[in-house]
Amino acid sequence: MMNEEQFYRDTWVEVNLDHIRDNVAQMKSLLPGDVEMMAVVKANAYGHGDVQVAKTALEAGASSLAVAFLDEALALRQKGIDAPILVLGATNPSYVQIAAEHQITLTIFQEDWVREAKEVLGKDATVSVHLKLDTGMGRIGIRDKETLLKIEGLLGEDPRFQLDGVFTHFATADSGDLSYFQEQLSKFKSMISALKTKPRMIHASNSAASLREPAAFFNGIRFGIAMYGLSPSVEMKEALPFSLKEAFSLRTKLIHVKKLLPGETVSYGATYEAQEEEWIGTLPIGYADGWIRKLQGNVVLVNGMRVPIVGRICMDQCMIKLPCELTVGTVVTLIGQDQNDAIAIDEVASWLDTINYEIPCLISSRVPRIYVKAGKKMAVSNPILKLLDKKKA
Ligand SMILES: *Cc1c(COP(=O)(O)O)cnc(C)c1O
Repeated sequence: MMNEEQFYRDTWVEVNLDHIRDNVAQMKSLLPGDVEMMAVVKANAYGHGDVQVAKTALEAGASSLAVAFLDEALALRQKGIDAPILVLGATNPSYVQIAAEHQITLTIFQEDWVREAKEVLGKDATVSVHLKLDTGMGRIGIRDKETLLKIEGLLGEDPRFQLDGVFTHFATADSGDLSYFQEQLSKFKSMISALKTKPRMIHASNSAASLREPAAFFNGIRFGIAMYGLSPSVEMKEALPFSLKEAFSLRTKLIHVKKLLPGETVSYGATYEAQEEEWIGTLPIGYADGWIRKLQGNVVLVNGMRVPIVGRICMDQCMIKLPCELTVGTVVTLIGQDQNDAIAIDEVASWLDTINYEIPCLISSRVPRIYVKAGKKMAVSNPILKLLDKKKA
């Protein structure tokens, strides 16, 4: 019998929900009682699993959720989440009715959007919206008071639109120099002071700002990267108000072990050549899993030892050089703790010359996620068989 709640491959991600709970609770304990935490679970909760992280964060003290686009919000509704959800990015106004039906809050920042949405929204429907102000991020948002007041006016004359929030996003909250951050903060305060009516929720801070600048709390924070136990930047690591607990590990198992003779080669292009008799192990993970080709030459952990990835990384497999003959089935850690050593996400990010945010997002959906909660492994799901089942239905 095939079971979609099980998977049959030797590669998996372990997500420690206890660590996520602790990160949320620690941050929450630093917030005054009237400051709400919105847990940012966009991009499948930064690759960790949207519904599991959302539930954990809500249990640990978050009061609402934020995602990047409407489909992500609908996916959470489909999975039974009924907490408030804010879509942080732009939503095409033609979908306003769908948002209204599922009680999803939209971000708006254009006059035309409001005009078009008014045409589409059912006459008895209501939709909650937050206004986005661009105070210096230069991405989306209202840039001047005049437009802000026009949009407030357009919304005010139509009771179907509930203006529940106003927010902005910082471009440099994680950097050493906070002067640009302070400029954005002043601009935000000045713009919201122009509003005729203050919406219920005013929020500006991402993880970086939340961890270092209580002056920017207003009455809500949007907590993302730090919830997953990752520092918003390398610079900030030294000055965190509490220690973050990383939640994401990536593991696989040796599926083949062989001895190479001097001169024999490994993988496409035959670029790696054994210099002496060498033990080579094969791992069932490759670039289609997000373990990208650029990682060739970096290391993984086997029995607590660092060993190199040799030869080109293939779509579904890659090879490592072993210190000795090891048995098929031995667990190999690509990210996370193994005995007395650990490969942190920050280390993988440094190999790839990128930021930690990108690493768990990169590990593709075909790698199953296992959840650890209250120290115990929870039921897992098979991403591939789930997809097949949806097709049949
Ligand atoms: C992603 C995002 C966040 C969360 O940022 P972190 O740095 O992960 O805490 C907050 N606000 C907006 C608008 C975002 O897009």
